[in-house]
Amino acid sequence: MSNVTSIPNRPHHDAIVVGAGFAGLYMLHKLRELGLSAQCFEGGDSVGGTWYWNRYPGARCDVPSLEYSFSFSDELQQEWEWSERYPAQPEILRYLDHVADRFDLRREIHFNTWIQSARFDPDQGMWIVTTDTGETATARYCILATGALSAPRKPDFAGLDDFAGQWYHTGQWPHQPVDFTGQRVAVIGTGSSGIQVAPMIAAEAAELTVFQRTPNFSIPAWNQPLPRSVQDEWKKHYPRHRAAAKASRSGALYDYSQRSAFDMTAAERQAELDARWARGGANFTHCFNDMFRDKAANDIAADYVRNKIGSIVQDWDKAALLMPTDHAIGTKRICVDTDYYAMFNRPNVTLVDVRATPITRITTTGIATSAADHAFDSIVFATGYDAVTGSLTRIDIIGRSGVGLKDKWRDGPKSYLGIMVADYPNLFTITGPGSPSILTNVVMSIEQHVEWVADCLGTMARTGADLIEPELAAEDEWVAHVADIAAQTLHVQANSWYMGANVPGKPRVFLPYIGGLGTYTQICNEIARDGYRGFVIR
Ligand code: NAP
Repeated sequence: MSNVTSIPNRPHHDAIVVGAGFAGLYMLHKLRELGLSAQCFEGGDSVGGTWYWNRYPGARCDVPSLEYSFSFSDELQQEWEWSERYPAQPEILRYLDHVADRFDLRREIHFNTWIQSARFDPDQGMWIVTTDTGETATARYCILATGALSAPRKPDFAGLDDFAGQWYHTGQWPHQPVDFTGQRVAVIGTGSSGIQVAPMIAAEAAELTVFQRTPNFSIPAWNQPLPRSVQDEWKKHYPRHRAAAKASRSGALYDYSQRSAFDMTAAERQAELDARWARGGANFTHCFNDMFRDKAANDIAADYVRNKIGSIVQDWDKAALLMPTDHAIGTKRICVDTDYYAMFNRPNVTLVDVRATPITRITTTGIATSAADHAFDSIVFATGYDAVTGSLTRIDIIGRSGVGLKDKWRDGPKSYLGIMVADYPNLFTITGPGSPSILTNVVMSIEQHVEWVADCLGTMARTGADLIEPELAAEDEWVAHVADIAAQTLHVQANSWYMGANVPGKPRVFLPYIGGLGTYTQICNEIARDGYRGFVIR
């Protein structure tokens, strides 16, 4: 193994942070508080992560603004003014720019720099990281704040290079606004991104064709301006709201029903569902406490949404195509929309069922399905991500015994608490697989991880330790626990990106921890209090 200190011009830091989104920014801030030197590498030319890349029209978060924000600084949460119930992408990006400036974080970030590899040198006890700009850096700790939904997937359709028009992926949207006026536009994909972008394009383009493989359940956002009075009142009680969110299942103040669907009368169930539809948003899926364990309970909520689709979409054939029947509601990520179903009443919008007539190739003029050739000026891929693991496995990460993380995870990701991986000492994953991450208001999950990692590094500094790594047995036990609790839910039956089902060849494993953020936090804290049970610290 090379002697890293003998290589000239190779900077050394206590920690390297990869990614400058919510997670990387807060991690940098905490490392500075600990007095540790850190450098952050970020592929974009500014901060923001997911919210830097996802600039597509209509991009908006499904978690309310007042909750989808950092809680670690009361000054920050008091001074920032949100303008809408749900924050749009430009506002979240402005917020993260503000955070970066307010805490003076940019000076430690190398922008326009992608990490290509990270290799642990056991002789030196260092991580050696290389970038696409030819730099090498070393650090004792490597913290991957690379995001769960940041490795975009553009399906391998034949012929895309020949397409004479423009194409876009929602997760890599251009910085300049795209003008679809007068165009014939295709949107492929009907997940959260497709459902948000399509109505915006329909309002601008001459014709929009939505290529749907699997219909999704979507609940109206009923987004609206956030009145000053509501915001002021909420801010007065921020400590209480934040504590409740962090102790909750989803890291958000949803109204979790305590009642089984079958302890309610039909009239009570109808009233519950009506009230939740009227309030809008992801809260809808918490209408019964047996929603995700009992298919019959879930069917009641699913039927309700299918009926809503039927009542909104005037053309019965289109409505029927838009009604999901292959999965329980909420077992694929619930979508939240503005005018998605109503959009299909517009004369310029067409729906193509690519399960019945699959896309065979992209042509010079558009998209060919098994049934017809469709001509387009632009194609929008809203085809999603190699979720949770993709942003990690696209980096060549080599552990202590020379094994690549990609190889270790060939049959599914293995991680202790979703934070550390056996054989990869001093490597931390923020919101990694096996943590609640994408099932929650991810900002709360990020804060929990970053604070746990910072406490761990602080403890190590105080005790003179310089290496931490999970025991294989602890990791195996955690992976089994994550799988066990997932298996008790309906989630594992769906072909979702939670299950890796959207990426051909990806192992079918439920990726996040479904036990809830509050429970998870207690487990992490107990493990730390027990002297980092399940970890080897030297
Ligand atoms: P997604 O949920 O994975 O949706 C991708 C869509 O593309 C699906 O409809 C999928 O169909 C379709 N697709 C993929 N490959 C295809 C192919 N070869 N042919 C035809 N269709 C294909 O991705 P996303 O919409 O980008 O959302 C990902 C996640 O990001 C969300 O679930 C959410 O967690 C987050 N997100 C959140 C928001 C928000 O907060 N509002 C907005 C955007 C994204 P199948 O279902 O059949 O695979």
